[in-house]
This record gives sequence, structure tokens and C-alpha cells, in this order.
Amino acid sequence: MSKTKYIWHKGKIVDFENATIHVLSPTSQFGANVFEGLRGYWSSEEQNLYIFKMEEHIQRLKKSIKLIGFDSTLTDSDFRQSVIDVLTANDFKEDIAVRQTVYLDGFGSWMSDGDVEMFVAPVAKGRNVSGEKFNQGIKCMVSSWERISDRNLSPRIKLGANYMNSRLGQIEAVDNGYNSAIFLNSSGTVSEAPGACLFIVRDGKLVTPPLTSSVLESITRETVIHLAKSELGLEVEEREVDRTELYIAQEAFICGTAAEITPVTQIDRYEIGEGTAGPITRSISELYFACVRGRIEQYKHWLTAVY
Ligand code: PMP
Repeated sequence: MSKTKYIWHKGKIVDFENATIHVLSPTSQFGANVFEGLRGYWSSEEQNLYIFKMEEHIQRLKKSIKLIGFDSTLTDSDFRQSVIDVLTANDFKEDIAVRQTVYLDGFGSWMSDGDVEMFVAPVAKGRNVSGEKFNQGIKCMVSSWERISDRNLSPRIKLGANYMNSRLGQIEAVDNGYNSAIFLNSSGTVSEAPGACLFIVRDGKLVTPPLTSSVLESITRETVIHLAKSELGLEVEEREVDRTELYIAQEAFICGTAAEITPVTQIDRYEIGEGTAGPITRSISELYFACVRGRIEQYKHWLTAVY
């Protein structure tokens, strides 16, 4: 995998080593930043790098900026061009992930209202799980930590500081021998994983918590719902999910830009389905990768070509 040579920072392409932020900045001290995690997939057939659903990421970033009250003058064109420019500069010809972060710079407090800046940092990144690892899936525990809620620190805002709640859940899960966590929300129903949304299969239907259940408005979740309905003819229910429904699900998977489609085969020591990736999870994953690699004509509008 290639190393990142350049990062876009404050309007310029700078060397990796020079993309620095002051220790006293509100982003450094208080997590005052909102961000997007994008993915780009290399197509060997077309010799091009495709960013998946870039427009959707830009729109979500703008909502996060609005909700956290940053006084940003960045435009849609800045958001778009910075990603393209930094990828072109690095000349990546492989699968990549990009972090696009808008943050509070300067020396103010968490309340400061100036100095909104952005960096865009790409890294080479392969599949989250593939082959035998996909088949085996991951083991999750229902966290004893509650997911943050819209009444305190909304999970709808993709805010750096939110990930400290994710961290608590992930640390607890790993300490207990699991790969990851599933959070319940303040109503006690299922919300999401530390960095991904969750789907289960019940009676052949795909079920996922609604966007009002303390989850990020996930772009992959939306993609999965669309593909399941229109390509697989599946019924999809967006509704509250009880904890015990997880244990009796036929299949479960988490999804996200970084997580892609990752099967969950054990939850709190309960085996899910046959204890390996189920058929619906497999079909969705295959469709997802066909889309992101530009192999389905009708979904090519979800891709932005870098070169
Ligand atoms: N929930 C959380 C908490 C996340 O961090 C992510 C990853 N961005 C997701 C869900 C999935 O969102 P998306 O599909 O837009 O990547």
C-alpha cells in the first residue's frame, strides 16, 4: 500500500509532515471538529479512482457544520475540489479512505466562533473484511454504555467528540473478548455500533433502527436499504429494534463507509444464524462492491471519477 505524501490543509497541498495544528486549538483540546470519512475505489478495468457518494458526504458535512455552529465560509466547490486535488497530488492507484475534517483553529475556547479551517487527508486502505474473515464475521457485545442522544450530544452530528462515546463502547467490547460493540439508546432500544449502522434479518426481512434511534444518518445504511429493495426485492423495516431481537436474528451485519458490509455472527455469546455470514448479507455485500467499483451502469452516478 502506498504512503500518503500530501494532505490538503487550509487551502494548500502540503507535505504529510507539515499538516499540523496547534496544541491550544479548540479542535485539539475539545474535539471541536466535524468530519466525513469517504472511500475511493480503484477500478482496474477503467484505470480510474472512484469516490463513492461524494455529494452525499458534502451535504452531511454541511449539516454537521450548521448544527455545531461553525461560522464556515467553505463552499461546495471547496469541499469537492479539495478531495479531488489531494487525491490527484498523491496519485493513488488503489483503494483509499479520505478524512475530510472541518475544525476550530486558533487559540480560543470550545465557545470560540472564529478560525474555521479544513484538512483533507487520504490514506491507502483495503477491504475491512474479505474472504475467510468475511465468512467468519465479527463478534459483538451489547454495550453497557448508552449511546449519546439528541438530548445531549446528537449522533446526527458527525462530531469528533462523539467518538469518545464510541471509544468507551469499543474498549469495553475488546476488553471482554469481542471485536466490537452495539449500543442501546436512552430508550433502551438498539442504536448503532461505534462507527457503523446495524441491520438484522428477521423472517427474511431486513430490519434496521430508524434515523431517530440515536444513529448517524449513514450513507451506507441508505445505500443498503436502496439495494435491498430495488435489486433484491426485499422488504425493509426501519423500526425500533429490541435487544433480544438481536439474539434471535437470522443474520446481522454492520455497515458504513469504512466498515463496508461486515457480518456479525455472534452477539453476547448468542450465535447468529449458522454462526457464519448469511446469504442475504452476502448478496448485499456483493451488490455493494459491484456498485462502488462501477460495475453496475445504473449506479455509476453514485461515483465521482478522480482522474
Ligand atoms: N455510525 C457511526 C457512529 C459512524 O461513525 C459511521 C461511519 N461514518 C456510520 C454510522 C456509518 O456512516 P456512513 O455509512 O455514512 O459511513
